[in-house]
Formats: sequence, C-alpha cells, structure tokens
Amino acid sequence: MREAFLKRLFTMIKCESCGHTYRVSDIEILGHEEYIWLFNVSCGHCRTQGLVAIVVREANIEKWITDLTEAEYGSFAQAATVEINDVLDMHNFLKEFDGNFASILSDS
Ligand SMILES: [Zn+2]
Repeated sequence: MREAFLKRLFTMIKCESCGHTYRVSDIEILGHEEYIWLFNVSCGHCRTQGLVAIVVREANIEKWITDLTEAEYGSFAQAATVEINDVLDMHNFLKEFDGNFASILSDS
C-alpha cells in the first residue's frame, strides 16, 4: 500500500533530461532503511536512469499543529478521505488552470 502510494507520487515528477513524467512502471523500489527509501527510476521516454533517495516519515496525528477548532477538526474527521487520485486530479487541474477564478466561479 505504502509502496504503491510512493510510486504514484513519483508519477508527478518529471525526468530532468527530457521533461516527461515517470510512469509507475518506470519506478523500482530498491529498499528502505527506516525513513530513507531508495528508488531506481528509468525514464520511459529517453531511458535516462537515476537513483533517488527520499525521506518518508509518517505523520503522527497527535503531534500535528493546527489552527482548526475542535468542531472543525471533528467535521473534517468525518469527511471522506483524500485519496491519491484526488491529489492527481487537483494536480492535473492546476496544470491546466490559467488563474482565471472568475471563469470557474461564475455560473454561466
Ligand atoms: Zn526522460
């Protein structure tokens, strides 16, 4: 589950050589030692390979700092979970969004 999630995150990263985004199949997890994960990425477009080390620390909700009120927190706690596809949808939306809020807020 966590490995699939990390691979999906990589699909938002662009190859430094050609600018194409990685596909899940371009990413191989080599392993991890505590918080440090090592990935082998191979661009499906230009075949450039690279090693990437990232630090993955799982958040502990009790340590979160928030300005939400208790009622707001309770309301969000009942809300649907934000899934990776929601994040990708927003990423794609923002990639195309030209900054014109009037056009998306108007009913016409
Ligand atoms: Zn490439």
